Amino acid sequence: MQFNEDAELDTSQIDDQRGGGGGVGGRVALGGGGLGIVGLVIYFLLSQFAGGSGFQLPSGSGFGDVGQNQQVDSAAIREKCKTGADANREDDCRAVAFINSIQAYWADQYARSGNTYKPAQTNFFQGGVNTGGCGSATSAAGPFYCPADAEVYIDLAFFQELKTTFGATGGPFVEAYVLAHEYGHHIQNLLGTSDRVKQGTGPQSDSVRLELQADCYAGAWANHATTVPTASGKPLITGVTDEDINAALDAAGRIGDDYIQKELGGGKVDTTQFSHGSSAQRQKWYRAGYDSGDPARCDTFGTNNLG
Ligand SMILES: [Zn+2]
Repeated sequence: MQFNEDAELDTSQIDDQRGGGGGVGGRVALGGGGLGIVGLVIYFLLSQFAGGSGFQLPSGSGFGDVGQNQQVDSAAIREKCKTGADANREDDCRAVAFINSIQAYWADQYARSGNTYKPAQTNFFQGGVNTGGCGSATSAAGPFYCPADAEVYIDLAFFQELKTTFGATGGPFVEAYVLAHEYGHHIQNLLGTSDRVKQGTGPQSDSVRLELQADCYAGAWANHATTVPTASGKPLITGVTDEDINAALDAAGRIGDDYIQKELGGGKVDTTQFSHGSSAQRQKWYRAGYDSGDPARCDTFGTNNLG
């Protein structure tokens, strides 16, 4: 996939907290922060640590300090990421472009039903972050959405982690999948779906249904990625290939609960601990969204066949 060289990027959707300094604070006890956040893989990581099952993150996977002096300084990224050409060249501009496209899609969806989409900021951070409404979190939590402040948080180093730790093929469209999944949680927050979710894990749990729906929403966006115009009037993305979709499906498989338990956890699959769905389920629902291009087909709460 490529970005339209001339399309403009809107960096106002990003708060950049990666700037210098940081890393001043001490290590934050896991479970002490991050209450209420919905991530890509987070519940697993939290529960594994909380349960003391001996799961160890591979070294260098980012249990960094949470900086106490973090500041939003988006001047550099505003200067750097102006067009699709910048997104074709620079990793962080690429993330900006995906976020713009994803939010343009949802704005369009809302407009079609006579409603107004409420955009969500994405915060770029490094190592750790103090959120506006969900306490603090380290990069080990993975990318996440905080319903309380309605913002997305991501350490872009996670994309590398997906390849090294999770063994994913990687590639730009994997990054798009991750970001679109988090924005799926934003949609669920706006629609009130998240409020319906009861605590708990297991293959039929509300947590799993919520996560699979976010995967499906990500797929729905992917279907429209090359057609939805952004504020500048042009689609940002020119051409999504089978290879792109396969890379996203591969990543979805690498963050399935069963895969993580087998490959990164204790080696045993325990479905009672499922919080995000199996690899096959995550792939199935991403594909359901992609094939239909219709978020209405993402009713994971109304089906008794999650896959
Ligand atoms: Zn999620």
